[in-house]
Amino acid sequence: MTKILLTSDRTLMSDYHNNEFLGFGTCAPPNFVPEWLYSYLFFPQIKTKQGVPKAAPYGLRKAEVQLLNEGFEVKTVSPKYLKQFIMEASVLGIHVMDPFGLGPASTTLAFLFKKEPYLAKYFKSLLNSPEVLKAKKRGLKIIVGGPGAWQFKYRPEFAEQNGIDCIVEGESEMALGKIFNIALKNEQLPKHWEVKVADAPKLEQIPDINSPSINGLVEVGRGCCRGCEFCNVTLRPLRWYPLDKILREIDVNIEKGKNKGCCLHGEDVMLYGSTNVTPNDERLLTLHEAVLKKIDSISWSHCSLAAVASKPKLFAQISEIIRAKQTWWGAEIGIETGSPELAKKIMPAKALPFKPEEWPEVVKQGMGIMHDNMMVPAGTIIVGLPEEREEDLLKTMEMMDDLKDCRSLIVPLFFVPLGRLTSEDWFKETALTDLHKQLLIQCAEHDFHWVDNLMNMTFAGKWYSPALRSGYRVFAWVAKRKTKQHVKGFH
Ligand code: SF4
Repeated sequence: MTKILLTSDRTLMSDYHNNEFLGFGTCAPPNFVPEWLYSYLFFPQIKTKQGVPKAAPYGLRKAEVQLLNEGFEVKTVSPKYLKQFIMEASVLGIHVMDPFGLGPASTTLAFLFKKEPYLAKYFKSLLNSPEVLKAKKRGLKIIVGGPGAWQFKYRPEFAEQNGIDCIVEGESEMALGKIFNIALKNEQLPKHWEVKVADAPKLEQIPDINSPSINGLVEVGRGCCRGCEFCNVTLRPLRWYPLDKILREIDVNIEKGKNKGCCLHGEDVMLYGSTNVTPNDERLLTLHEAVLKKIDSISWSHCSLAAVASKPKLFAQISEIIRAKQTWWGAEIGIETGSPELAKKIMPAKALPFKPEEWPEVVKQGMGIMHDNMMVPAGTIIVGLPEEREEDLLKTMEMMDDLKDCRSLIVPLFFVPLGRLTSEDWFKETALTDLHKQLLIQCAEHDFHWVDNLMNMTFAGKWYSPALRSGYRVFAWVAKRKTKQHVKGFH
């Protein structure tokens, strides 16, 4: 009888056809594609064995192992099979990334489609599923945590209305045992448990996962030293994992998950092992050589344009190591603006070791180097930053023109007040100017130009590729028309 169950909603318990980029599809609201087809295309249900998923979100795995190490009996289950286990459980832990669709990508898509995104819909339906409601009546405690926990501050009534007993925010390794103990003893839980930055775990306090993570994701470090004003991550201390820790977690994915793919997760994988903003050649090359010896395919979660632009030769060397096994790889990157003035105000260290005034040139250089070396970036641009002026938008549009030939996706995100800008206002669609709309259309055109090429690269050689490609093509074609109509027609 397992007292503690861990899970997440269906949009997170998916391997996205082994392509993390497709996970962006969970940020869209229900749309013209029937839900059964859309969910299959963008977030198919993960395979399970007796209700246990073959892989789970990395953050959930960290919580799971922390509790196991502290002697708790824990089981991670698929939301689809929760019913089989929940009546014997005392506590249900739910991992969240973007529970209300308040993240920048979902906010932007919610504007375009005027509905709540899938990820919010599935989170709510997990909490309101008959099995959870029934278990709540007999005293089940619900604890919610993960990178999206900050959003509950913007929905203060939600937890109580939906039976959540405690929200855990921040890097919680050191707090989880206490919180779950209180829940198991049926004592009063605090409604919101915020782990202060000073209480973030030290490297040696972060346990290795011991069950497979989705798409073989493993952290290479936590925190970021660039200090962008609008970012939560930058408030956390920078810690790089030693190589043996990373390799141990990859072994778990290979041995227990039979997954020889890996996504290296860090806020800037290019800075792995560096104590400043200059990449450390030796640490980075050693990391890739060692990882690629073990696995067959790799991606990065994020990297910075400045680090790539500062070391083009190093980047080419890494590309060579990676391309011995695959033709391309991807990562998310932050472009944010094409305006040097705005870059100087809100992200003065983003261009380092270059000057903030050089930011547009850094972006062009970095994107060009990525293109030449077969890295496909998914870049973000922030619309509606505080202090944004018309001149800034015009510069971003100029930059978009310069990036036309770079194989990439570039996604406009509405400003969300995070990091040191939490007291600023959210950007609302009612504040969209004609220039904003032109920029949104420019991004859509850029993406639709490249999306076909990317689909061919993504599904090359897979037997199911013709069917999937047709599905995505139809979606992309209709989405393009709708986006243009909607943005043009918006008043
Ligand atoms: S936006 Fe990126 S580069 Fe800037 S502080 Fe956050 S993680 Fe670091």
